[in-house]
Amino acid sequence: MNTADIRKDFPILDQKVNGKDLVYLDTSATSQSPVQVIDAMNDYYREYNSNVHRGVHTLGTKATDQYEQARMKVRSFINAQRFEEIVFTRGTTASINLVARSFGDAVIEEGDEIVVTEMEHHANIVPWQELAKRKNARLVFIPLESDGSIKIESLESVINEKTKIVAVAHVSNVLGTINDIKRIAETAHQNDAYISVDGAQAVPHMKVDVQDLGVDFYAFSGHKMLGPTGIGVLYGKAQLLDEMEPVEYGGDMIDFVGMYESTWTDLPVKFEAGTPMIAEAVGLAAAIDYIESIGPDHILNYEQELTKYAYDRMSEIDGIEIYGPKERAGLITFNLEDVHPHDLATALDSEGVAVRAGHHCAQPLMKWLGVSATARASFYIYNTKEEIDIFIEGLKRTKEFFSYEF
Ligand code: PMP
Repeated sequence: MNTADIRKDFPILDQKVNGKDLVYLDTSATSQSPVQVIDAMNDYYREYNSNVHRGVHTLGTKATDQYEQARMKVRSFINAQRFEEIVFTRGTTASINLVARSFGDAVIEEGDEIVVTEMEHHANIVPWQELAKRKNARLVFIPLESDGSIKIESLESVINEKTKIVAVAHVSNVLGTINDIKRIAETAHQNDAYISVDGAQAVPHMKVDVQDLGVDFYAFSGHKMLGPTGIGVLYGKAQLLDEMEPVEYGGDMIDFVGMYESTWTDLPVKFEAGTPMIAEAVGLAAAIDYIESIGPDHILNYEQELTKYAYDRMSEIDGIEIYGPKERAGLITFNLEDVHPHDLATALDSEGVAVRAGHHCAQPLMKWLGVSATARASFYIYNTKEEIDIFIEGLKRTKEFFSYEF
């Protein structure tokens, strides 16, 4: 499929913003959904909206089938060994909180260490901070290289017999750094630590095989991979999930309920109390179909081509500072001379170009970079080089405007 054909599947892209053709460069915050995803959710509400796991009637059975088929699809998409290892959550944040709350509380003891990095999104720092506080444990940071990458020796320098969990992003949402999760997992396991990965920025853009990576936990969100908001996934090794306590209690997750005591049902529903996100699971399954129809390798290559093009063109502009390593995923975080990123994003928006500005939920990383905020352009399969040209022209005009001596 070529990009022109792909774009036909994304009706939202075909609109004017402030009188100009929309150029959507904010996929790292949220991706757009193709008609296939929108239609799948629409069909659910029009044809078989019903609660899952309980009803014996036809609609309820169909809803249950589709919900569980979505789980199977996620299983094969990330090559988990068993469907029991796929827990549907509200998103990456909820997945990581589940691990920190349930697994963390069970394995972390006073004086233990949890290793994270300075490039983490708040979703992969704050739950571990709170766990460390609850248990009187310590958070330890892997130092970053000057380009924002991690060396395996740096992990080796902080990991020791007190380390119980290594929590790291697969891809940084600010620097675009792609971390070598396989080696990080090996190093964690050699030191008898567990590894939990924030895959929010990786799964949408590259082939992720949780068995090959050798991870214990892996979290991601539907809305960053062409799917809807409100659904995400926690992958966990079955034997670990099996031993973990639920963090939410109520309907569906129980086996037997007495007046004073209850028991829990099997994996993965043990972690899915209450009515789950059924339409969203159906939408996520359609998003996976779409990604697979294009091919994760093709997606990665195409994004790399776009990113390199954008990087080279941005580098032509005097006064642009780009953060992160040259080898990166499909996003570029930057600042333009003295222009505040919010002013920059507002100026670009007036030209129809959507980029993100702010701290990108990564305040410790902003501190490390020595800035309070940045702008970020991020790319996906529906973006084109022509859109990048429009973005570059917008940057040039903004620079000119702000350097004008009034
Ligand atoms: N981790 C990373 C690296 C992210 O980019 C994001 C989303 N910005 C999250 C975690 C949180 O994802 P969600 O808001 O979907 O829970």
